[in-house]
Amino acid sequence: MRRAVCPGSFDPVTNGHIDIVTRASALFDEVVVAVGVNKSKSRLFSPEDRIEMLEEACRGFDNVSVAGFSGLLTTFCEEQGIHAIVKGLRAVTDFDYELQMAQMNASLTDVETVFVPTSPEYSFLASSLVKEVAMFGGDVSGLVPAFVHERLLVRLREQRAGNGS
Ligand code: ADP
Repeated sequence: MRRAVCPGSFDPVTNGHIDIVTRASALFDEVVVAVGVNKSKSRLFSPEDRIEMLEEACRGFDNVSVAGFSGLLTTFCEEQGIHAIVKGLRAVTDFDYELQMAQMNASLTDVETVFVPTSPEYSFLASSLVKEVAMFGGDVSGLVPAFVHERLLVRLREQRAGNGS
């Protein structure tokens, strides 16, 4: 059984993430989307919300599951018996960091990183940019699933109202 992990913070999940998960699910027997839950002040959504949105977004795949992980991704891979990490590569700017990370992870445990080139229509798409554009009133409805868009607008309203936690 070939298993792979698609890691990230998914704050929130975008259509670009779903594209990579879709393609990973066709390449591997089983895919675990691993949501990093390490503490960070810069996240808009809680770990529970991010996991819930991914579960909803991945409902249509029968070989994809979602899990939270804290600490090192390589430790998670060892615990799960997973030997492949799938990452999307958007542009050359992603490459330096991703190469370094892939080599570091390979040096820590027996894991191979598989890079999947982003579909051109998503090459500019990043969760951070989606949040920033939405925060200033831009229309990001075509960049995330509809239910994520709704939750994003609600969350940003809450944050503006002072309930930022
Ligand atoms: P991180 O928490 O690593 O900054 P994200 O949660 O934003 O990353 O994304 C997780 C992973 O999903 C990225 O490392 C990348 O492999 C992939 N990814 C993100 N955005 C896109 C996109 N637009 N197209 C393809 N893959 C993407």
